Amino acid sequence: MISFFLDILFPPTCAGCRIHKGSPVCRQCERAITTARMLENRCPVCDHRLVETACEFCAIQPLALQQIFSLGAYEAELYNIIMAFKFHGQKRLAAYLGRLMADILCSECRTHPDCILFPPMQKDRLRERGYNTAELLAHTIGGAAHIPVWDIFGRSRIAPPQRTLGRAERITNVRQLFILRKDILSLQEKHVVIADDVTTTGSTLNALAQECLNAGAASVTGITAAYPAAKPIHILYSQRS
Ligand SMILES: [Zn+2]
Ligand SMILES: [Zn+2]
Repeated sequence: MISFFLDILFPPTCAGCRIHKGSPVCRQCERAITTARMLENRCPVCDHRLVETACEFCAIQPLALQQIFSLGAYEAELYNIIMAFKFHGQKRLAAYLGRLMADILCSECRTHPDCILFPPMQKDRLRERGYNTAELLAHTIGGAAHIPVWDIFGRSRIAPPQRTLGRAERITNVRQLFILRKDILSLQEKHVVIADDVTTTGSTLNALAQECLNAGAASVTGITAAYPAAKPIHILYSQRS
């Protein structure tokens, strides 16, 4: 309620273009994101933009996931929105991104998911940021698509953030990092969705998916806000943490 009145007094500026005022993301930016996704020639497995006929992303690492969906490449308006959400405290952008992600999941996922999971954050980083972006996205998607969100992953050790590492190190870094809690709801025969903000090499999603499959899940699908672009453009925000 307080934020409603604050928005009237101080209209928010669009996180995508930093020009238009009145909503966290303006119509032009939303249209740019959804249109880019429709026009792109995308890999049917990982949703990355295809430059050649074969997908470079899938060629590097076989996926434990059945499919990954993304809103688009981590560039332009989408880059700015995710940066504001992840590193500049604009927590409410979860509602905006999660709604678009839920639309994709509902219209394109082949099986109706039984639950949505998310990667757990390391406690010190959670304290620093104040919220787990993947968890917020999972709850928005779950609410919009009527899928329960299960908080069942823990971490087995302290590990450096994936974005600070190279491709080969990322795979080693997440090996046996995620553990399913002992008191978990059974994943047996479940169609599982894992939500995350940005997938870079797919190592985190793959490690989580493998745990689900080991626990008897029937399938694992990934849903992320963005996949990496070769060169992000129109950068407005710097990466703080
Ligand atoms: Zn805008
Ligand atoms: Zn692919």
